[in-house]
Amino acid sequence: MTTVKSEKKSLVEKDRENVWHHISAYNKKSPPMVWESGEGAWITDHEGNRYLDGMAGLWAVNVGYGREVLAKAAYDQMLKMAYAPMTQSHEPAIKLAEKLNEMLGDDYQIIYSNSGSDANEVAFKIARQYHQQNGDPSRYKFISRYRAYHGSSMGALAATGQALRKYKYEPLAPGFLHVAPPDNYRRPKGQSVEEYNIQRAEEFEEKIIWEQKETIAGIIMEPLITGGGVLIPHPVYLEKVQEICDRHGVLLIIDEVICGFGRTGKAFGHQHFKLKPDIITMAKGLTSAYLPLSVTAVRKDIYDKFDTGEENSHLRHINTFGGNPAACAVALKNIEIMEDENLFERSAELGERLQKELAHLKDHPFVGDIRGLGFLLGIELVEDKETREPATNERVAKIIGDCKANGLIVGRNGDTVAGFNNIVALSPPLSCTDEDFDFIVTVIKKVFAENK
Ligand code: PMP
Repeated sequence: MTTVKSEKKSLVEKDRENVWHHISAYNKKSPPMVWESGEGAWITDHEGNRYLDGMAGLWAVNVGYGREVLAKAAYDQMLKMAYAPMTQSHEPAIKLAEKLNEMLGDDYQIIYSNSGSDANEVAFKIARQYHQQNGDPSRYKFISRYRAYHGSSMGALAATGQALRKYKYEPLAPGFLHVAPPDNYRRPKGQSVEEYNIQRAEEFEEKIIWEQKETIAGIIMEPLITGGGVLIPHPVYLEKVQEICDRHGVLLIIDEVICGFGRTGKAFGHQHFKLKPDIITMAKGLTSAYLPLSVTAVRKDIYDKFDTGEENSHLRHINTFGGNPAACAVALKNIEIMEDENLFERSAELGERLQKELAHLKDHPFVGDIRGLGFLLGIELVEDKETREPATNERVAKIIGDCKANGLIVGRNGDTVAGFNNIVALSPPLSCTDEDFDFIVTVIKKVFAENK
């Protein structure tokens, strides 16, 4: 007789035989979890183990799991009109674009794609074509930061500043340059955070000058580096970057793939700073990852350069699935949930409480720094607090494994830059209840107390 358990066991075996997983090498001792169901902030695997998903999937499931209204929105839309190419239009795409502009508080033209990588690729294509049609045809280069992630495709990966994500896949798309990010924890001793951030921002200007400003199309950056290690700039940094962009005719592309939709305690991460991005990219939290959808929002004055009436001046970009009607309907409903439940404010509140609750970890022998904005936290582990030597892989893996053994999934900036994969990350659903929040705090405190 086949028991339920053995059938489930064979699922893991079949997985091993047939599925190639992202990032991880196959580990016999620790096969992948087979996620079976989710409710609120919690997931259950195929063996019935429950975990609080402290990473909201991949920093994405902002409203939590099991939202019937999202399933219903997709269902209804699929029955009514399952597909429409975005060479034409449909109501959910129109309403969503209008809603996003309301949230951005400005006038952008919205282009739909499927993933964060796609959204950034579209941004690069638009920036290059814009300059061509705006009397600046030699502007084609983009500058981004080391440690930042912008996607997996050949252009978005070229913009990524994480050598381990690129190693053995190069050469990637040409024309992508990098500068160092502000890493306040590792700033030179004796330098103020503000002074250090100004200096880091000025590296963009240096690069622009060294490279000849007429060749620089844009700067792409997240409001804060998320997956690359939760590196939060001083406001002066971004404001200085904006000033540099304006001075040199360089477009500012803000990657809100993680920071958008409440993660940092506001609708968009850049709204913490005095910024006026030319292009904004979004994905993940846009649908809370219930369906794939991404957006490239482009300022009207850029868009206007694509309507010159000249031959080939229009955007010659297309993809099949971008702006799928069901995905747009889910995004609209997802945003409605966030607004009804005040999840942006909740993110700010929970984030503040989390930092307070865990502030004492600064005294832990292996915690170098702890930092966050909204419901997003990074705990930087070190071997030695004095030298700031990054913690070994083993030490980071032990903390993550112990959290999991206690029912909490946490993340890390894995396979980013060799030697600097030492930041434990928390990015839970913004819909966490007070009980969920207490659970997270209890597990983190316990695990760190046991790992001294
Ligand atoms: N930009 C950022 C900041 C991201 O974190 C990611 C994904 N982690 C991407 C872009 C790429 O998104 P996707 O995986 O949907 O292609």
